[in-house]
Amino acid sequence: MEKKITRVGVLTSGGDSPGMNAAIRAVVRTGIYYGLQVHGIMRGFQGLIEDDIYRMESRSVANIIQRGGTMLKTARCKEFFDYEGRKAAYENLKRRGIQGIIIIGGDGSFRGAVQFSKEFDLPCIGIAGTIDKDINGTDFTIGFDTAVNTAVEAIDKIRDTMDAHERIFIIEVMGRDAGYIALHSGIATGAENILIPERKTIMEDIIASLLEKERRKKLVNLIVVAEGDDFGGAYEVQKVLKEKLPNAEIRVCILGHIQRGGAPSCLDRIIASRMGYHAIESLMEGRYNVFVGILNNKMNYIPLEDAVKNKGKISEEWIKIVKILAS
Ligand code: ADP
Repeated sequence: MEKKITRVGVLTSGGDSPGMNAAIRAVVRTGIYYGLQVHGIMRGFQGLIEDDIYRMESRSVANIIQRGGTMLKTARCKEFFDYEGRKAAYENLKRRGIQGIIIIGGDGSFRGAVQFSKEFDLPCIGIAGTIDKDINGTDFTIGFDTAVNTAVEAIDKIRDTMDAHERIFIIEVMGRDAGYIALHSGIATGAENILIPERKTIMEDIIASLLEKERRKKLVNLIVVAEGDDFGGAYEVQKVLKEKLPNAEIRVCILGHIQRGGAPSCLDRIIASRMGYHAIESLMEGRYNVFVGILNNKMNYIPLEDAVKNKGKISEEWIKIVKILAS
């Protein structure tokens, strides 16, 4: 199946994350450096199906490394779930002579790419662009560092007002399936409790810890909750705490979409640049249908179908650290 690749496509798909632009830039410039033609595909798999594809030059990606979002836009594309949709996508690529594509997205996008590459023998390379950091085979995903820093900045501000009022504050951060944003932002802001989907939330324990802190006159308490926590999110937690602690002032703040936006952090720009560069090298070296990750500060390539969500991998040690440091 090995053939010399001269024309490649790049797309961003699924949920957007800050740093996707830096990855596009790296793909385009590395491709051009090696003499490839690089084509930008708009709105993920939707643009593939609709043939919304254009040739990119070095200058096309000028002045984007510092911008959040994605210049190629992103979409969730229903038609790509069907064979007919994927066939239309392939025909557009074939007509344009595009021999391989680089997909910057989450595990859903990789599932689509695996299906596509199997049916049409078109090499796909995956790069993880997701704020949730929950993909196998990599220590980093593009956007996580920015998102977590945004959360930390917001929580710090809320802490200032908490301190003035002796309150319990429940802050909900993003993470439908993964608690990394909650865990990292919670530790970094000194949260007393962190609730994540990877662990069952036992409300009795949280109430006991709050009562114990009250006895010790620790009256300001911060609880960081991942949106996908099994207890049901910040408002559910507030409801139960209000019943059990009727005298406490309990406030909720949902951070929401601000966590996806903003200029990418230095780390996200660096990993995006590295991954984009290596994605092109992979295609050129005939390392097809792989996911390009970074593990222990080395590039790590795994089959694209193994780049799935790594649920439940938060170690007990982290939880112990939270408990000890919040005492
Ligand atoms: P993310 O990539 O952020 O996880 P999604 O799960 O929404 O986001 O996936 C993005 C897109 O990938 C979907 O809208 C769809 O077009 C495509 N996709 C996901 N899973 C499959 C699948 N099993 N078969 C074909 N396409 C898929």
